[in-house]
Amino acid sequence: MPVLEIQPIKKVSVVIPVYNEQASLPALIERTSDACKTLSQSYEIILVDDGSSDDSSSLLTAAAKKEDLYVTAILLNRNYGQHSAIMAGFNHASGDLIITLDADLQNPPEEIPRLVQTAEEGYDVVGTIRSHRKDSFFRKTASKSINLMIQRTTGKKMKDYGCMLRAYRRHIIDAILNCHERSTFIPVLANIFARRTHEILVQHAERAFGESKYGLIQLINLMYDLITCLTTTPLRLLSLIGSVIALSGFALAVLLVVLRLIFGSIWAGDGVFTLFAVLFMFIGAQFIGMGLLGEYIGRIYHDVRARPRYFIYKVISAQFVKSMQEEK
Ligand code: UDP
Ligand code: MG
Repeated sequence: MPVLEIQPIKKVSVVIPVYNEQASLPALIERTSDACKTLSQSYEIILVDDGSSDDSSSLLTAAAKKEDLYVTAILLNRNYGQHSAIMAGFNHASGDLIITLDADLQNPPEEIPRLVQTAEEGYDVVGTIRSHRKDSFFRKTASKSINLMIQRTTGKKMKDYGCMLRAYRRHIIDAILNCHERSTFIPVLANIFARRTHEILVQHAERAFGESKYGLIQLINLMYDLITCLTTTPLRLLSLIGSVIALSGFALAVLLVVLRLIFGSIWAGDGVFTLFAVLFMFIGAQFIGMGLLGEYIGRIYHDVRARPRYFIYKVISAQFVKSMQEEK
């Protein structure tokens, strides 16, 4: 793939969703801000309080009032979920590179400079792979199978979509903000628009304070968000299943007629098997009908979320360059 001109990164925005994380906030703000101070770029830290019921919002407000911290606090009026909170942060981020991070300190903020360095090499999205991931066996196997599915569909060879320590270039965030869908899974959406992606290995710590905010139900919800964000193939499968059932019903009917002609009426169980064959054909037809509805619904869904059809990276024309020079 030809390498496009690499845009310089002048400002880095760090976006962190916070939901009932009062215990980890002081360390989080200190460590993130220390990591950002080592950057050669200017920076801002945007903390989004996702309707916490503990002291998180007042801690964030206090941090935002300190001038030497470059912290912006965004307080949502209730709990909307991690990805919606991150979107709220994106809306306020002004950097050329936007980094997302979890508030629970499972991803060390000290990795931020490495993410920036990698992005500077010209990548649109930099993901991270958790080395020695400190999560339960159930979570690990679930992630593995989901990652494999995403890899197949997006064609991007990323191994770890669950880790939110990631960096996105400005144009990717602009594209994401232009998508009008409500349920989003940000890392997948970003990869749909990305041209060059890369993954680096980072440390992963155990959750030091509190519990994971994702129980079984939330994980299932997240998985549905992820699948629908990615593809409408499940709707298509209905037609496929229908066709298979209807065709096998038809084949069974033909077989029954032939066998009936060869072996006589006693063999065919007095028409019971024929009934099955007809039933299968009808069930198949119903599935095909549902699949057809699915095709329409899939198209409506595509239109409703109104994702941009394309994004222009740059327009280059001799006339344009000339008129710019004349203006100067
Ligand atoms: N989070 C949020 N809103 C929610 C749930 C979670 O903003 O409704 C934040 C949470 O504070 C944390 C991040 O999303 O910063 C990831 O949550 P968690 O660590 O519980 O998820 P896990 O690491 O277990 O996947
Ligand atoms: Mg976590």
